[in-house]
Amino acid sequence: MSVSSLAASSSRCTEPALLSPKEGAGGGGGLIQPLVPTGDHPYECEFCGSCFRDESTLKSHKRIHTGEKPYECNGCGKKFSLKHQLETHYRVHTGEKPFECKLCHQRSRDYSAMIKHLRTHNGASPYQCTICTEYCPSLSSMQKHMKGHKPEEIPPDWRIEKTYLYLCYV
Ligand SMILES: [Zn+2]
Ligand SMILES: [Zn+2]
Ligand SMILES: [Zn+2]
Ligand SMILES: [Zn+2]
Repeated sequence: MSVSSLAASSSRCTEPALLSPKEGAGGGGGLIQPLVPTGDHPYECEFCGSCFRDESTLKSHKRIHTGEKPYECNGCGKKFSLKHQLETHYRVHTGEKPFECKLCHQRSRDYSAMIKHLRTHNGASPYQCTICTEYCPSLSSMQKHMKGHKPEEIPPDWRIEKTYLYLCYV
């Protein structure tokens, strides 16, 4: 099964809302710095400076600023700017809960609800080191933390996915 491909693969460029607890991630002053347009992400949003790989992604991102909501739920008529917002919302009607807490197996409809739920476990963050049991709030801080462990401490079959405190079935 795919364990949390969402958190691992979504770039901060296309889905900033999913990775909101940024503090500690970059070790910087806490300011979110817009990416500079590069060959990889040449399309820049004139509203917030975020950069995107292609024009259609930029176009759908800009709806956040313009308030345009082309995605309509055929269950209740609610409108959304982004496709993934509609997809997440639609689970209200299907009852689908693709996120599962590894600590108590409670299911959640979306990533942010899962993160909120995790905090009820003594303030648990979405990632926990399997070697020293320390929590990390973001994947990048978890990866940084793992570099602090000696290679011989880390089991040979260990993968970063093992630090995820939730499972994701989407
Ligand atoms: Zn923008
Ligand atoms: Zn609906
Ligand atoms: Zn739980
Ligand atoms: Zn550790």
